[in-house]
Amino acid sequence: MLLLPQIEHNFSYNKPYMSIDLSSFPKPTFVDWSSGLLEGEAIEQSRKTLGQLAGLFHDREAWSRMDPEIEVYKVRFWRPVPDGKTGGLFWGATTLNPGRVGDEYFMTHGHFHSLRDRAELYATISGEGALLLMDQESQTCSQTMTPGSVHYIPGNVAHRVVNTGSIPLVFVASWPSDAGHDYQKIRDTGFSKRMVARDGVPCLI
Ligand code: ZN
Repeated sequence: MLLLPQIEHNFSYNKPYMSIDLSSFPKPTFVDWSSGLLEGEAIEQSRKTLGQLAGLFHDREAWSRMDPEIEVYKVRFWRPVPDGKTGGLFWGATTLNPGRVGDEYFMTHGHFHSLRDRAELYATISGEGALLLMDQESQTCSQTMTPGSVHYIPGNVAHRVVNTGSIPLVFVASWPSDAGHDYQKIRDTGFSKRMVARDGVPCLI
């Protein structure tokens, strides 16, 4: 016979509690798990072109020869609560196209969270890539992104995704609604390491 430990639930029924308006709950949205794409009326979208990512890639010469209208990535996201709300969560799906600027793979801009200690989850749907993680002392490491990989990004760590494959890299993410994005720090100092192709093989240098 299996003996289960007795668990005491120590609810306090005397404490005042917030009354919740059930009708105000955000309605569900939908994700196509084969493609990672979000669909629904509440979905917002932003896209980043090569021209908008000026200064990000180390080979400025190669960058200047490319069409600035080339789409590097787009993000579809769902904000079921207002931006900045403490205790809420957001959801997003990013499609990062394959390509290179010189020997450097296409990548997302990368950011710290404005509230530095806020964490985030990434999960890969399709494609191959690398998640670059950099702490506040500018130490950078990478994790391989492959279909099914789930990545925990701790607080106080900048994060950037690189597509090292030949098809779009699609990943979903969930992050706290009060995290915010600090892109300026990355514009100013960048990541301490870059993912480049050496003899066709991704290499973190
Ligand atoms: Zn983030």
